[in-house]
Amino acid sequence: MTDKTYPEWRRLAEEARLPTQLFINGAFTQAEGEAAFAKRNPATGAVLGEVARGSAADIDRAVAAARAAYEDKRWRGKSMAERRDILLRLAALIEANGDKLAVAESLDMGKPVAEAAAIDIPGAAAVWRFYAEAIDKVGGEAAPTNAGNLAVVTREALGVVGAIVPWNFPFDMAAWKSAPALAAGNSVVLKPSERSPFSALMLAALAREAGIPDGVFNVVTGFGAEAGKALALHPDVDVLAFTGSTRIGRTLMGYSGESNLKPVWLELGGKSPNLVFADADLDAAADMAAFGIFFNAGQICSANSRLLVERSVHTAFVEKLAARAAAYQPGDPLDPASKMGALVDDAHLAQVLRAVEAGKAQGRLVTGGSAAPLHPKGAFMQPTIFDNVNPACALARDEIFGPVLAVVPFDTEDQAIALANDSIYGLAASVWTRDINRALRVSAELRVGTVSVNTVDALSPQTPFGGVKQSGFGRDLSLHALDKFSTLKTTWIKFA
Ligand code: NAD
Repeated sequence: MTDKTYPEWRRLAEEARLPTQLFINGAFTQAEGEAAFAKRNPATGAVLGEVARGSAADIDRAVAAARAAYEDKRWRGKSMAERRDILLRLAALIEANGDKLAVAESLDMGKPVAEAAAIDIPGAAAVWRFYAEAIDKVGGEAAPTNAGNLAVVTREALGVVGAIVPWNFPFDMAAWKSAPALAAGNSVVLKPSERSPFSALMLAALAREAGIPDGVFNVVTGFGAEAGKALALHPDVDVLAFTGSTRIGRTLMGYSGESNLKPVWLELGGKSPNLVFADADLDAAADMAAFGIFFNAGQICSANSRLLVERSVHTAFVEKLAARAAAYQPGDPLDPASKMGALVDDAHLAQVLRAVEAGKAQGRLVTGGSAAPLHPKGAFMQPTIFDNVNPACALARDEIFGPVLAVVPFDTEDQAIALANDSIYGLAASVWTRDINRALRVSAELRVGTVSVNTVDALSPQTPFGGVKQSGFGRDLSLHALDKFSTLKTTWIKFA
């Protein structure tokens, strides 16, 4: 963790200069008609800036810039070493500006600044570095052919990538999409969430400083129904990469059908189960179960929001968990001692509180259940645990995207697997047991994209991340993500 003190983070926050304009063709620019919206700090309600409200016309400008950059090969035509070095320089610049980026992220969406500095920002730099290094290591193939033929399979950039990302890890999600897209030789138009616009604009400035040519990386801030929709419908966008809710994922597939049938890659919601068997290290499991739902205030697609626990240890385990929840009482996001900050805004807090109120009839409230009155205009929520939740109810089925855990006891391994799989989602799952056979047996049966055994929510740039069922399709991270941003061309050569 960072060693900065509370007063030092507060000073950095006071000094923060947050960019507010669109970044198109290598320059910061106003939105059409100088349209803007006020972006507030969810911890205090204070306005952080008047951010450019991108329109369809602004998306047109950004896509035209990206297209021109793709066509004249100012990026994909560079040598592999040049492109690799530019992306490596960007990773280094991200690290050099880590504190400023962490403060922006914290002010923008309420996450503890120390976590942003220790996890989000280095995590994004690692992703940029991974894809930089991939540029001169991933190639095509020569296919098996009959004699007298050569069939060469090459990977080619698709063209203009539209990337639409959410607000929960704004800087990381921007990296997860943009880094492989650029490494594959494309141009990018990135649309960050209206709830967290700043770090994407800071990334644009760093990308320019690193040497990414004008027009290759563009950022259009604004609302989903305006800038986002225009990007998704745009006939000159070749592929759309999205992370966000399942509801908007559906809408985007419709936009693709209405426009140019661009491929749409979806990383969507989850209701990830955490299965705790009686033979597990229960203290370690309780520590990580609390982390799995309260980290980032539960605003994580793969949050372990359903805890399935074997009945023989259920009561004792819930007591352990409740004790650990106390450590996650929300605090000022700028205080490095805070393990939980604010939710992203008032509207989201109200939505989480509605789910909690309804939940009171669906399970037993063990702890939390209310907003936390830390600041009169702050969107803070207590860590909340419901026990004995009816698995048929919304509390056990719907993504709440807040610090709210639903505990469901089980009796047998088969029942645990059935409960875990009884979801429209299939993003991630965790399994706690000391029995390696059980760990492997259960992992094989879980219909999810990632299983974490004796930990929660494990991920790295080297491993694919994504879901099955209504959690989406395609994978972020790892070399597999390059597949989303490149096409395969087969060239046949006949020889005598
Ligand atoms: P959201 O779907 O509301 O918004 C995501 C993005 O889509 C934002 O940039 C938004 O402006 C844009 N958008 C909204 N309406 C649009 C439209 N009609 N056309 C085009 N773009 C539009 O999601 P959110 O509230 O920002 O994020 C939370 C959701 O993201 C949760 O469901 C969470 O599970 C999911 N998520 C998934 C992953 C993953 O990797 N699977 C990671 C993080 C978050």
